[in-house]
Amino acid sequence: SRKIIGLTGGIGSGKTTVAHFIEEFGFPVYYSDDRAKSIVNDNEALKTEIRALLGDHAYDSNGQYDRKFVAEKVFSNAELLQQLNEIIHPAVRLDFEEWVKKQSKYLIFKETALLFELKLNLQCDRSLLVTAEDNIRIKRVMDRDGKTYREVQAIMEKQMPEKEKIKLADCIIYNNSDLEDLKEQTERIVFDIE
Ligand code: ATP
Repeated sequence: SRKIIGLTGGIGSGKTTVAHFIEEFGFPVYYSDDRAKSIVNDNEALKTEIRALLGDHAYDSNGQYDRKFVAEKVFSNAELLQQLNEIIHPAVRLDFEEWVKKQSKYLIFKETALLFELKLNLQCDRSLLVTAEDNIRIKRVMDRDGKTYREVQAIMEKQMPEKEKIKLADCIIYNNSDLEDLKEQTERIVFDIE
């Protein structure tokens, strides 16, 4: 029967790279963060709720979600941020359910940074964690985003500790080597899922 695999990892772990390999192997991947970014612009019911919560300025004069305005508005207001998430997360979940209905493969993947934090693993058949040593992840993000060591470290410190994720994950990819090794591990795990 069909299985939904939750794919996750902290900043710079390599989960997006793994997701791309999975697509190369022929399995569909739902990218939660990307979808969230598009539904705040496309889903009219959601747009109405966001306007009601944050005001009309949440959307610019072209009707596009104003990410900067929203970020500033929720930055120092944890309660408002939580309310915003309580609107967006269920909308993403519904969007995912619609997407799932359209898939025909026996294995489908949901990539999300917050799999364990939001307990989305409970709605998946398996969880697949991508992890790597802190220093390696920091270095990769510095190279990718041009951030400083401290900036990346500050983001990492706000995320769920790797130890906890490792305890919760059904399958783990250790991404401490090169891309070839990462691809091999991904292939082995994906085709071994029963
Ligand atoms: P984020 O949550 O920050 O978006 P991510 O978990 O999706 O990160 P990726 O974007 O896949 O991580 O990987 C981070 C960076 O490290 C990318 O530039 C990617 O190309 C690179 N990378 C990932 N794995 C390896 C590897 N094994 N060897 C070399 N570079 C790698």
